[in-house]
Amino acid sequence: MSNPNYARPFDPPTPAALIPLPPGAIAPAGWLADWSRAASAGYTGHMDEVDIEFQRAWAVDHQMTGERLAWPRGAWPYEGGGYWFDGLAKLGLALGDTELTDQARRRLGVVMDNMHPDSILFLWWLDQRRAEDIAAVGVDGEWPIWACGLLGRALTGYYAGSRDPRALATLEMAYSGDRRRLGLGWGISNLWPAFDTYAWTGNAEIAAGLTALFEDDRAHSAGQASWQRYRQAPGANEANDHVVHFLESTTPWALGYLWTGRRQWLETALAWHDLLAREALQPSGAPVADEYWGPTGAFRGSETCDVAGYLWSQMALLSVCGAGRLADRAERLFFNAGPATVNRDWHSHVYFQSPNRLQPDSPPYPHGPQASGNNYRRSHMPLCCTAALNRIVPGYVTQMWMATPDAGLAAVAYGPCRVGALVADGLPVEIVCDTAYPFAETLTFTVNPAHAAQFPLSFRLPGWCGEPRLSLNGAPLAALPDANGFVRLARCWQPGDVVELVFPMTPTVATGVDRNADDAPYATVSYGPLLFALPIGEAGDANTPDPAARWQYGLDPAAAFTVEREALPARWDWPLASPLRLKTTALPIDWQPDPAAPRLPAAATATGPAEEVTLAPYGCTKLRVSMFPVVTTG
Ligand SMILES: [Zn+2]
Repeated sequence: MSNPNYARPFDPPTPAALIPLPPGAIAPAGWLADWSRAASAGYTGHMDEVDIEFQRAWAVDHQMTGERLAWPRGAWPYEGGGYWFDGLAKLGLALGDTELTDQARRRLGVVMDNMHPDSILFLWWLDQRRAEDIAAVGVDGEWPIWACGLLGRALTGYYAGSRDPRALATLEMAYSGDRRRLGLGWGISNLWPAFDTYAWTGNAEIAAGLTALFEDDRAHSAGQASWQRYRQAPGANEANDHVVHFLESTTPWALGYLWTGRRQWLETALAWHDLLAREALQPSGAPVADEYWGPTGAFRGSETCDVAGYLWSQMALLSVCGAGRLADRAERLFFNAGPATVNRDWHSHVYFQSPNRLQPDSPPYPHGPQASGNNYRRSHMPLCCTAALNRIVPGYVTQMWMATPDAGLAAVAYGPCRVGALVADGLPVEIVCDTAYPFAETLTFTVNPAHAAQFPLSFRLPGWCGEPRLSLNGAPLAALPDANGFVRLARCWQPGDVVELVFPMTPTVATGVDRNADDAPYATVSYGPLLFALPIGEAGDANTPDPAARWQYGLDPAAAFTVEREALPARWDWPLASPLRLKTTALPIDWQPDPAAPRLPAAATATGPAEEVTLAPYGCTKLRVSMFPVVTTG
């Protein structure tokens, strides 16, 4: 089956389970629109003011050659530009903001206007007939080739939303010619945009490159050694990896399933991601990535690049296989780790976030900006996270709905939005999702096809929700999930039909042990997809804890909770004074962590009677405890 509205002319015969809609089809609304506009007004529309490196990104007068193609020698803006332009174009299209889209067109236009068939990928001033240029892109384990893939992804997103023919011509020039190029790079980042370019153009040279990667096990050069490992399913004792490298080197192999029809490619990619989730997922939804993966832990860090990259990877895998559990991961990440990356005004950000953040400059991470990586700052060195944070909001908004092979649409990730798309035989439909989710349990969808017509709509039922409720025009329907966790309504839709979904939430406590701290027991509190934390008050800014704040508490996993809820404020900015709160009791404990090596106590004993505490969504806090020491009583 092939979707008549969104299938591309050269999509291979094995169809993707879900087809991303062009950026611009989905507009954020409600709290999500507030947050999207804050991203635009803060970082995304103004990166040239953040650091001169962003002015240099793919700029006509910043042409690095020779040894300067090493990232510390001047080539870094090729990475940063790719990340930023991806977010810039998609956010502009999602918001219908011409200032953003004009900026994206202008910056990508430098590459689009200068490309020629002998360029090396998008490095248009290099020439693949010159041996010294070919040698130069091999520095740092072929880092420049990897950086090009980030620009390739920015261009495919921009092309899907704009249909600017220069973008497609640029992509085709970059990925045709020397077919080995797809198999090079520090990560396998060029594979996905090359696949998309083939699907649009049918270019035979790109097809040969893809076939060599997916069909011919002997066709590999030394340059791919770092990601060869991920062609096979993980074994029993896998060494950890740099998480950006892991995400960029595992995820694209799933395309092998679409290219060859062999399901093993997909299962291998999913197995690696399941390994990462099992070993390293933090309660915020982000993997431990400081900058390598490691065991879930109260003071382990998650690099902001990996918040963006993990969201990208889960949604990309979801589009290939359709498994709703991947969208569960994406929602949990986006609603928790997402807002923790940036301050409320989008003028400062962290490089690393951790479940517990008690004070600035702690802990001293072994990579990146080390201790200061935990602080909210205008930018961090290296600048990767300052660039990558621009991908988070548009990465979610533009993929909340996807097209289905049966000419319908699927709601894959939730929040207030409006989607305008084509269904059935090219029929326009607009669907408005009115909700304060995840701060409320009810989602109301008003379906407006241009005229009454038969087509299917699918809705994801979150895995955490035990008893979802579904109704159509007020009449209850069975909310029975299919194998992928979706409920499908195939019917003749009338303009004004209303679907209501209710996802009842209850406070839940999960427990585990922190393997970074001699198996110290911990407890976390969730409510639907939201992680809750004990907030530490901010004395003027997000890096200064209120000296009077008390956070030395342990939690009894059997504690009872009450839910307090108010209407959302007129403008949403993840306020510390959250309109959704959980009240519970906690036990005071003696806990004085060393800022240079903070850890959970191996055992926690109550030093006084239980006290009432108020928990807020993790994403509303900048200083917090969300992995609590466990105190058991009676
Ligand atoms: Zn980073």
